Amino acid sequence: MKRILSVHRAPEKHWVGDGFPVRTVLHSKMDGASPFLLLDYAEPIRFEPSDKPRGVEEHPHRGFETVTIVFQGELEHRDSAGNHGKIGPGDVQWMTAASGVVHEEKHGTEFTRNGGTFEVAQLWVNLPAAHKISPPAYQELKNENIPVVEMPGGGSARVIAGDFNGTMGPARTVIPVFLWDVSVRAGSRLDLPDPSGSSAIVFIRSGSVRLNDTEEAGALELAVFAVDGEGVAVEALEDSKLLVLGGEPIDEPVVAHGPFVMNTFEEIRQAVADYQNGVMGTLAAR
Ligand code: MN
Repeated sequence: MKRILSVHRAPEKHWVGDGFPVRTVLHSKMDGASPFLLLDYAEPIRFEPSDKPRGVEEHPHRGFETVTIVFQGELEHRDSAGNHGKIGPGDVQWMTAASGVVHEEKHGTEFTRNGGTFEVAQLWVNLPAAHKISPPAYQELKNENIPVVEMPGGGSARVIAGDFNGTMGPARTVIPVFLWDVSVRAGSRLDLPDPSGSSAIVFIRSGSVRLNDTEEAGALELAVFAVDGEGVAVEALEDSKLLVLGGEPIDEPVVAHGPFVMNTFEEIRQAVADYQNGVMGTLAAR
């Protein structure tokens, strides 16, 4: 089995824009995080009805991918490439910003009007240098197109990306990445398949688990495993919901500046200049 490198306790909550009360449960300085740069999680929260959609106003990204998973509620997205999407419970938006995308991320119109419970996660997947300034891409993965694998011990995995025991997720990824939305029943034990040479991370959205027969982790905690070795064992101590992810580590320098993640400071300066000069495009007026 893979060695557990670390278990991170729940970090404090902060607001992204006025719509996303998140905890940054994974970041690029954590040993074993590559190819991921960040995982923000907003646990279930009730929003009252409003007439103005909450969220994040127009902003750019370059050099990586943003993957947004809606568990509850509704999100609306518009970007400079002309994509406009609405994603609801179970849906995933996989946006390859690459050379540059300008977008806004808001609560959906209907959700805003009616209010309701909101729960969402956003993952940042790094891109290797060779792909950082490739053309952007946009995938909307609807819930009904995400395969669900029932597990013998009780529980199921929604396969968003990568291969789960022969079931492939629908996401087209630049580098090998897996992302599974897993539910486990109390008392069941799962042996999660994960390829050798790949990072592996388990985030506990709710419940509590014992990992590799040794370490326990509870709600809002995150375990990072070593790249070496193969296999992660999860024993559910209560009904639990997990995000399980990993990928081929990118062994290149990471220079991050807000919404830009490149390999050098010069590339960051270029990204800022390109954004200011409109090279990444702009949003059409509403
Ligand atoms: Mn964004």
